[in-house]
Parts: sequence; C-alpha cells; structure tokens
Amino acid sequence: MTEHQIAFDSHFATKGGLFVPAFKDDNLNEYFKWLLIEFSWQKRNYGFSGEEPVNPPFVNTEFINALSLNAYAGAKDGNYFIGINAATVILVTALFNRMLANPNILTSVGDPLEEEPGLKVFNPEITHFDQLYLSSEEILIFPKNEVRRKFAFLLARTALNFLHNHEYAHIILGHVDYSHAERGVFELAESEQNIGMNNLDVQTLELDADIMATYMGLKFINFANLSNANLDSNERSFYTDWQNGTFNFSFAVYSLFRLFGFKNHSTSELLNFDHPPEGVRQVNIFNTILKGYTDAEKYQQVPEICFLAAKQVEFAFQEMAEKVMSNNAIKFAFNYDVLVHTNLITNNWNNLIEKLKKYCFVPLKPYVERDLIDVERFRNFDADLLY
Ligand SMILES: [Zn+2]
Repeated sequence: MTEHQIAFDSHFATKGGLFVPAFKDDNLNEYFKWLLIEFSWQKRNYGFSGEEPVNPPFVNTEFINALSLNAYAGAKDGNYFIGINAATVILVTALFNRMLANPNILTSVGDPLEEEPGLKVFNPEITHFDQLYLSSEEILIFPKNEVRRKFAFLLARTALNFLHNHEYAHIILGHVDYSHAERGVFELAESEQNIGMNNLDVQTLELDADIMATYMGLKFINFANLSNANLDSNERSFYTDWQNGTFNFSFAVYSLFRLFGFKNHSTSELLNFDHPPEGVRQVNIFNTILKGYTDAEKYQQVPEICFLAAKQVEFAFQEMAEKVMSNNAIKFAFNYDVLVHTNLITNNWNNLIEKLKKYCFVPLKPYVERDLIDVERFRNFDADLLY
C-alpha cells in the first residue's frame, strides 16, 4: 500500500476502508485500475472550456470496500478525498451490459440480433451488490456483439465519470470546506446522510455539483469530436457529432439516477430532503445540457435529444424487468410545482455564493435568468414521456 492509500483507508474507515480489487477475473482488476487513471485525466481537464482551476488541490481518489451505490467527497487537515464505493463500479457496469445484452434495447447500436432474448430480472433498480448477486447467476452479463459490448462500457465510463466529477465539484467549488467550517462536518454523501445544514442549501450544493459534472461531460463530448480523448476508433464511432454525443451522455447519466427509482415524494415535502429527488436532478441536468449550447439551432434540438434518451432509458428498464416498472420519478419532476421548486434551488445559489467564495478553487459566477428552467417549455414534454 502507498502512503496515500493508507491515508484513504483511515479517512473512510467507518465506510468500509480502502478497496483493493482481487477478483479471479484479472480483467476486472485492470478495469478498476483503469478507472482511477481515467479519473485523474478528468481532474486534469476539469473546468468549463478554457477555464482551469486556480491551483487545484491534490485529491486522493480511491474505491471504498462497500456494497451499496454511493460516493463521497471529504476533507481532513487540508487533505481532500473522493471515495467511490467499489460496488458502484460493478452495479453501473452491470446495468449497461444488461441493457446492451438485450436485443430490444438501443437497437441501432451494433447488431442486436446477435443477442439472446429473454434476459430479464425481476426489478432492474439494483443499488446494492447483494441484490445483484441474488438476482442472477452471473454478476456481469456481457453483450455478445462486440460493438454493443464496447458501447456498454462507454456508457458505464460516462456515468462513472459523471459521479466522480460531481464529487470533485464538491471539493473544487468549496462545498466540502464550507460545510466543514459551518457545521463541523466534512462529508457530503450521495445518499442516506443528513449533514445538518439547511436542506435548501444542501439541495443547492447538490444541483451545483451536478451542473459542473454536466459541463465536464459536455466538454468531453466536444473533445471526443475533435481529438483522440483517450478513445479507440470503436469508441470514437459513438461520438461522430454533437447529437449522438449529447444522446449518449444523457442516456448514461439519466440511467445512473434512474437506478434509484421513485420514493413516493409529494410536492409538499420537497424541503424535507437534503438531496433533491432523482427526477429533479435529471431535469436539472437536461436544463444544464441545454444551457451548454448557445447556438440557436442546437438550442432548439437539445431538449428533444435529452427526452428521447430519457424515454429510451425508461423503455430499457421495462424491457429488462419482469415486473411492471413506473416512470413516476421523472413524471413527478415535470410537475409545475416541482419545476418551480427546481428554480428555487437554483436561485438559492446566489445566496450561497458569497459564503463559498473563500473556499473555492475556481471563480464562482452568479446564476442569471437564462440558467433557470423554462417551465412552460419543459412542461410540454411531460405528455411525450407518458406514452
Ligand atoms: Zn453530491
């Protein structure tokens, strides 16, 4: 173990400590190593286009020996940590491989006729390794068609990068140090943990981290178009233009949140949670993608592409399931009151910006009118999703 790994193990001791992959299948061990290299690449290329972090700190990133879908950003004594539960890698990778191993999902990718029909699980909303282990004999079901197998890994990579960039945003944008100074806590878990701050403020920090991770994804799409971006020729064939890049990103990230299903929220209890409901985060991400394209023609096309991706993910979850699935999470997020609440969270950023300034590593900008969701426009997509 290196010195950094020892420090990481100690920092996340109560969460499970350092995960050292030792699978029988050496490809899996290599996959975990490769992801850490990928995350370093993401850190080096962090920021809006043409804008690099001012003096970014070293962030000790490793996997945690834990079985649920979760990730953390933390700090102690001036050292920064990102911990991603090892099971997250397996669960996310298993999800996309299961999708592409189904001949009825994403039929335009590769040759779906090579895939076997009938690979279903009772409920594909699998957020814990035990559920995955109990749901089928094989933990990872790989597509038979090579192009589809490559695409499944590309989607997994996109979703895991999003998760990592979200955590990195919590550090770079000052959220972690701010919450430490305010409340004596230094972790922002992606689920299950209430860190004791005002819920609206925590929801704002969550959406803010999602916004930054989305910009990172868009940067990657544009970069993938232009240069090698660490992609082989097969992978690059999925990024031939901004439309399929946008679709792939939307599909991957929507799927990541879709895994969590719907927890029967009502509009009156939106401020009872420290994290915004999954659907709210998905809609905020679509709105961020939209803001990322200033060109008028693209601005018109982007929502259609995002919502098509959402529909295809909903279809995929039903197609993989034996039970009847519901798309209540995204339907909930398109309620008028919920869209208005999402804008309330965004507006609250302008109250936090002054407090965050002394902790951030990049210049922070206030949100303006254009950053808000066009409620009337987004409401119209509701009907599309229902059928
Ligand atoms: Zn977060």
